[in-house]
Amino acid sequence: MKKLVSAGEILVEIMAERIGQSFLEPGPLLGPYPSGAPAIFIGQAAALGQPAGLIGAVGDDDFGRLNIERLRALGADVSAIAVHEGHATGTAFVTYRADASRHFVFNIRNSASGLIETDAAATKLLAGGDHVHVMGSSLFSDRAIAVALSAIEAVKAKGGTVSFDPNIRREIMQAPGMRAALDRVLSQADIFLPSGEELFLFSSAKDEKGAVEELLARGLSCIVLKKGAAGAAYHDRHGAVASSAFAVDEVDPTGAGDCFGAAFVSFWLRGAAPAEALRIANACGALAVTRKGPMEGIFPLAAVEAFIATGKNAQ
Ligand code: ATP
Ligand code: MG
Repeated sequence: MKKLVSAGEILVEIMAERIGQSFLEPGPLLGPYPSGAPAIFIGQAAALGQPAGLIGAVGDDDFGRLNIERLRALGADVSAIAVHEGHATGTAFVTYRADASRHFVFNIRNSASGLIETDAAATKLLAGGDHVHVMGSSLFSDRAIAVALSAIEAVKAKGGTVSFDPNIRREIMQAPGMRAALDRVLSQADIFLPSGEELFLFSSAKDEKGAVEELLARGLSCIVLKKGAAGAAYHDRHGAVASSAFAVDEVDPTGAGDCFGAAFVSFWLRGAAPAEALRIANACGALAVTRKGPMEGIFPLAAVEAFIATGKNAQ
């Protein structure tokens, strides 16, 4: 089976307990939960039985151990996660506003995550990799951008493939060089997985159809639009396939896109038809939102299949 590799931030997430809670005053918090978009992605892919490994860095602390142990338990290759003494593992504090938008306080670049590099363990992982998945949020510094680009280069040199999820977080977007890096990664990608308005960051077209056509003409193999509770749509040069979401009670949306992407890419690598890959991806995205914490809703393939067999489509 083809091996997936991603590189980027490894964080713990600490969540405000109540919707509308402000970080300007003390309040109840939940967590720490293992997190970081590429870690969620690799954890979900491994849980589905796809060989998958992560390049990243944590501190020699309990937050780092929590992440490594969770990824290991899910079956991921953790050999290229460096542990740095004297540096703290990265963090993300999140609060949900009454209008359902999220506010994050990140510590990524100045945490152990910022020490990410293509070291000997990373080079070895990439030598066994067939596909690289890049999260836009992982392009948080020049150093992280260099790791992502070297991972793409290493896997492409062996005839491998690339997927890209912009995963835009306004709080990280200020990183210098990020905008140019997002465009550069997109130009190397086979699969593009934007969510909502992210599609229009990379196209001059004003409507979805125009943007999809423009991006496909630039050489992408396929585009998968993530639409939250409305499901997802797949587009390639031959046409489009839409797939509705599963009906679930959403308790925490964070991580849905990462779990969805991991499932879609894993099944694409297995040669599944777009409709089948979308169905598994929709199921993983739906399951992800049923638990507080971005990796708490990751389930193995048998549980996802059981959910599909008994679950209901939302529309
Ligand atoms: P993230 O917050 O992880 O960045 P995203 O914005 O990238 O998420 P979404 O479109 O929110 O991605 O979610 C990805 C997929 O998860 C959707 O396409 C859908 O399949 C599933 N999903 C998300 N929210 C729900 C929901 N409330 N009910 C059912 N399925 C959902
Ligand atoms: Mg996302």
